[in-house]
Amino acid sequence: MNFEEIIQSVYYKIKAIEDRGSLASYIPELEKVDPDCFGVHISTIDNFNFGIGNYNDKFSIQSIAKVISLSLAYSKLGEKLWDRVGVEPSGTAFNSLVQLEVENGKPRNPFINAGALVVSDILISNLNSPKEDFLSFVNSLSSNSEICYSNRIATSEKNVGFRNVALCNFIKSFGNIENEPSDVLDFYYNLCSLEMNCKEVSEVFIFLANDGRTLVDNKQILSKSQSKRINALMQTCGFYDESGEFAFKVGLPGKSGVGGGIVAVHPKQYTIVVWSPKLNKKGNSYRGMRFLEEFTTKSELSIF
Ligand code: GLU
Repeated sequence: MNFEEIIQSVYYKIKAIEDRGSLASYIPELEKVDPDCFGVHISTIDNFNFGIGNYNDKFSIQSIAKVISLSLAYSKLGEKLWDRVGVEPSGTAFNSLVQLEVENGKPRNPFINAGALVVSDILISNLNSPKEDFLSFVNSLSSNSEICYSNRIATSEKNVGFRNVALCNFIKSFGNIENEPSDVLDFYYNLCSLEMNCKEVSEVFIFLANDGRTLVDNKQILSKSQSKRINALMQTCGFYDESGEFAFKVGLPGKSGVGGGIVAVHPKQYTIVVWSPKLNKKGNSYRGMRFLEEFTTKSELSIF
């Protein structure tokens, strides 16, 4: 498969079309990014790497980080994790409170904010120095050790995070948050503030294409079955209210974030990351969605 040729041709095709998206504005710092950035990077499990465009520029990975925190919590708690958070698509907005009332504070899945807050709580209870240990975990997944939180982004989100405050307190009222809400929220905002470039994200996520094992040191992060389950969750819940559309048009497990990044995983083959900050109406990168649809069509490499 000539990935380089396919990626180049799809990249230039998508770059030429009008970008109908708009920047996320509810976190003020996210609006300051250059709207025309567009980068792509692929990593394969046999160590082929190729990037194009702004693939070396750091961006705010936002909700993409929820897959990494879930992976660490799953490795610590095993199947007990699912007593605290469900595995169903929510069909409601990523920051919605409505289902929690009737479902007794158990979030539908780990990728909506409610679920990611519960996962953050689990990590705080299970790590000695939660923020430092989580960052070391992220850095241990690839050969890169320069991945950091952005204090600027975390503070910007904290200043407007009224809904996350409400979610965290609401879940605590049902007993599904053990720690102080302010500590859980601080961890959560930092998690979402991680900055990486497309190359780093594709390298960090490669363990999910490699049956739960890192490529850098062959370390088993998750069992093969756990790794499959994370991919299943990305397939069903990774794209807000557009997860069905992504499965339909792209056909890969993946996760997006409001910073305009998308990571997609082809189990046993590759990870591919696209970053373009302008979002479509459902909150997913406009060009990212278009690029990946065209990429799996041209390469005929979806999981279906
Ligand atoms: N930190 C963001 C929030 O809580 C995450 C948004 C996202 O990428 O889905 O609103």
